[in-house]
Parts: sequence; structure tokens; C-alpha cells
Amino acid sequence: MKNLVNKAINTENLPDDKGYFGEFGGSYLPEALETVMKEVNEAYDRISQDPTFIEELKELNEHYTGRPSPVYHAKRLSEAAGGAEIYLKREDLNHTGAHKINHCLGEVLLAKRMGKKKVIAETGAGQHGVALATAAALLGLECDIYMGAVDVKKEAPNVSRMKVLGAKVISVTQGTATLKDAVDAAFEAYLKDPVTQIYCIGSVVGPHPFPRMVRDFQSIIGTEAKEQMQRYAGSLPDAVVACVGGGSNAMGIFSAFLDDKDVALYGVEPAGKGLDTGRHAATISKGSVGILHGFKSYVLQDKNGEPLPVYSIASGLDYPGVGPQHSYLHTIGRVNYRTATDREAVEAFYALSRMEGIIPALESSHAVAYAVKLAKEIGKGKKILVNLSGRGDKDIDFVMEHYPLEEYEPEENLKDGYDEFLKHIGGERS
Ligand SMILES: *Cc1c(COP(=O)(O)O)cnc(C)c1O
Repeated sequence: MKNLVNKAINTENLPDDKGYFGEFGGSYLPEALETVMKEVNEAYDRISQDPTFIEELKELNEHYTGRPSPVYHAKRLSEAAGGAEIYLKREDLNHTGAHKINHCLGEVLLAKRMGKKKVIAETGAGQHGVALATAAALLGLECDIYMGAVDVKKEAPNVSRMKVLGAKVISVTQGTATLKDAVDAAFEAYLKDPVTQIYCIGSVVGPHPFPRMVRDFQSIIGTEAKEQMQRYAGSLPDAVVACVGGGSNAMGIFSAFLDDKDVALYGVEPAGKGLDTGRHAATISKGSVGILHGFKSYVLQDKNGEPLPVYSIASGLDYPGVGPQHSYLHTIGRVNYRTATDREAVEAFYALSRMEGIIPALESSHAVAYAVKLAKEIGKGKKILVNLSGRGDKDIDFVMEHYPLEEYEPEENLKDGYDEFLKHIGGERS
């Protein structure tokens, strides 16, 4: 079927009509929600072929978000890494400071076309909530954000942002009062009234059609970057690197390169305190196949199929599942899934800040950390494109408090790998 939203659709053209990428994806929901999802899918099929929708989205992407975001050659970082040249796709420069606005604008425009009055969603650290509240304010829809009571306390600045933007923040006190309970509460609210409201999922996860739809809205990252690399760097990259939480920024940049078999693709999962500590969120690296939040994919789960508690220094990455297309791309060997620890991410956070004047989000820092390693591995003359999914302003206070480094010289330390940095920050920190 013709799809004007995603110009990067590759020859495999997945998912199939039922929302499967190989054995992954689909829709595992109570019957009432099944019907609702079918409606969303049909509406998306319609609008993804409608030139007036494409025109409206294009105008917002350009004049509101500020697209295209540039690709930038990080020369000092590349030199310090001592191998391949590193290029950054600057999603941190988007309005609201990350890639999430790309799919939120698409979802809220879709909601409006479907005649919905209200968009609802869950949020963990508040980043998806803020992006959705922004899009809802822009397009004149109401917005309810479900958030665990624990997170409401922890993420006060984002709660204030959502309120200023006109969203209602609903504090969820049941269970552990964190993200998982917020998801349950949002689904419950959706079931009560699927007519006037619509649930806007925050990554390439959830039941069909969300993994497809969110990927399509994010595919603009890869479509732009591919053209920009050819023009600015003179060729396609040899490797593309992106961090993977649910996997939306990674799918966004990967989707344009899936057919280019000479371009190696790397998804970087959070290894937290270490893969053998149990305190991580490396779903593909350490998980098994299961069902979570209405779809089939790799999941970090216990013997009974209950999701395990997960952890990462980057709150945008600590999710016990992963988008079904990632599970598929892992299974067929098209994308390589690797990990970076908290400390490696903080090292990269400082390195990029001090060598390029760019403060990356801790999520994106995982991708930068792995790219520095990979640069050494594949060597000079090669090019690596990193998706810099967001800016790090939100993380500055936390990093300064937990990893204070007065006399830190990343250029020296990078030459010796991460060992010097690890010496600087000493023992375990929470
Ligand atoms: C939310 C977030 C992520 C993780 O989400 P994905 O769906 O895996 O992209 C990564 N980076 C930033 C800056 C985020 O806000």
C-alpha cells in the first residue's frame, strides 16, 4: 500500500497486515481494545495516503520543529577516538529538545483527523508527556498524562512543564506507582472512553499499528540523514549507531538504511551497572521472547512472564520491552545489538560536552559511547553516523551531583579507553 509518511520503506515492507514483523509484534488485547486499534489502523492507512495530511505534517516539521535537523561532523571527538570519523544527526536541536516531537505531532494530527477531543498517554520521566502536551497545545486538543506518583515527585520540572502547557497530570498511586502502573491506568482510562480520546504511545512499542505508525513518523530522521551524509560527507556512512529504549529514534534512523547492506547498523542498549548485576535494561541482549503491553517481542521477564524491574541511568531507556521490529532485525541479523554501561554513558556525556560543546541526553550518550569504541575498531577512513536523539539539559544536575569531575580531561582519557575515567569516578554510585 502507498505510504507517503514513510519515504524510507524498504523492500521487505513490514509489518504484514496483522502487524507482524516475522514472529514479533501483532496485537494481544482485550476484545474491546482490539476494535479500537482496528479503527486507529484504518485511520492511519487513510491519512498516510492523503497528500493534505502529508502537507500539514511537513509544514509543522519545518516551521515548528525546525527540520531538517543538521548532520554535524564531530571532528575533535573523532580525533580523540582515533579511528573512524564520527557524524551526529542533531535531533537534540528539535523544538522540545529530542526526537519525540516527531511522532507526537503525527499522532496528535491523526487524533484531530479522527475527530478526537483528547489525547492520553503514560509517561515515566515525563519526556513523552511533555512532547505530547506540546503537540496537544499546538493543535488545540486536551491532554491527560498518567504518571506514577513516585515519578511525579521525582520529575517535578517535567510535571510543571506539562501543566504550563495545559495538560492534566494524573498521579497513579496503585502498585509500585511507577511507569508500569501508569501504563495500566492509561489503558484502563482508554477502555472507559475510546470514542472521544485516543492513546498516543511514546515509542515503537504497543499493539499494531503503533510500532509501524511511530516508526513511520520517525523515519524522517533517516531519510534526511541519508541525503545529508551523501551531500556533506560525500558518501553513505559505514555504520549507523543509535540508543534503544523502546526503539523509536533507532528505527527512525535505521529505516532509511535497511536495504543498504554495506551500512552496518548498531542498536545500543543500557547495560546500567553491568549486564551481570541484574541492574540494567538490555532487553535484546538479556531477554527472552514474551508478550508485554499488547505485543510480542523480546522482554526482560521472570519465569512467570512478569516483567522484571529494570534500571538505567537514562530514564528514557529503562523499559523491560523493545519494539517488535528490533526483535525481528536482531533475529535476522540485520542490526547488531550492543550495550553501554552507566559509566560509559557518563564518560561520553562529558566527552561530547567538552570536545564539541554539545551536551547530549544521557540516553543519546549511550550511542556516543559505543560509537567511540566502534570508531577505534573499524579504523581510519570509515564514517559512523550517530543519532543524537536529545539534548542533556535535563540531566546536568544529576550528573554534576553523582559524577562530579573537576579535573577531567576526556581527550587524554579516550586514548586509554574508559579506564582513566573509571578511576576518576571510583566506586558504585546509585
Ligand atoms: C525517550 C528517549 C529515548 C528512548 O526512546 P526510544 O523510543 O528508544 O528512542 C532516547 N533518547 C531520548 C533523548 C529520549 O527522550
